[in-house]
Amino acid sequence: MTDATRKARWIEQLKSAGIEEAAIDLRHILLAAADEAQIDDMVSRRANREPLSHILGDKPFWTLDLKVTRDVLTPRADTETLVETVLKQVTDRSRALYIADFGTGSGAILLALLSELPDAAGLGVDISESALEIARENAVRNALQDRATFRTGNWAETIPDNSLDIAVSNPPYIASAVIDTLEPEVRDHEPRLALDGGDDGLGVYHILIPELFRVLKPGGLMAVEIGYDQAAPVRALAEAAGFDDVGLTQDLGGQPRVISGRKP
Ligand code: GLN
Repeated sequence: MTDATRKARWIEQLKSAGIEEAAIDLRHILLAAADEAQIDDMVSRRANREPLSHILGDKPFWTLDLKVTRDVLTPRADTETLVETVLKQVTDRSRALYIADFGTGSGAILLALLSELPDAAGLGVDISESALEIARENAVRNALQDRATFRTGNWAETIPDNSLDIAVSNPPYIASAVIDTLEPEVRDHEPRLALDGGDDGLGVYHILIPELFRVLKPGGLMAVEIGYDQAAPVRALAEAAGFDDVGLTQDLGGQPRVISGRKP
């Protein structure tokens, strides 16, 4: 069989499994695989709708390369909007800022911020110890381990009042009943813990937003990722918690994506 015939066969296998970007996925697999047996194996896994990130074992985010497994939510390009929102509001990038990322997962948001803020340090909190192992590896992989600490916790429970300059989170915000309607990659392979926001998807924000207010220093900045239809309720929660300058940022697709605010 010629190369072209083999490629066409793999693409056909992916397409008939419902994968629209079959050619792009195959290109990634061809770059990662050592031999034809491994290509066959990876294509079969992808045809079973395993996320490409799990098959390759990593995912680019911001300027970083992150290790990804089924223990963490695969970082999404949309979440870079949160990183941008924060960086835009940091006027002096050389200040010794202290950042915390709640529900840090792979560490993506915290590590991206630290990579841009050379004098900042930060804490990544997650309830999942297996996620934190990945986050710690990602800190080392991106040479940020001296400024990044990771520890288990239930949101901001153990964080002292008025202690942070920046508090960020991409919490679970999908309504429980919606999860079963998502693509198989997400529904069957990504951690529920990172997705499930309860009956209306807003459950975590009710706890998290007042907590972010409590742990921020006066003048501190918070930013949280939201679902496309959650801007109004999350904005209301931020205002009710006492935040000033509450603002919405849209992602590159023009969808509401981030609510931010400042503690007076
Ligand atoms: N954006 C993710 C998705 O649609 C969800 C992330 C989250 O719940 N925080 O799959």
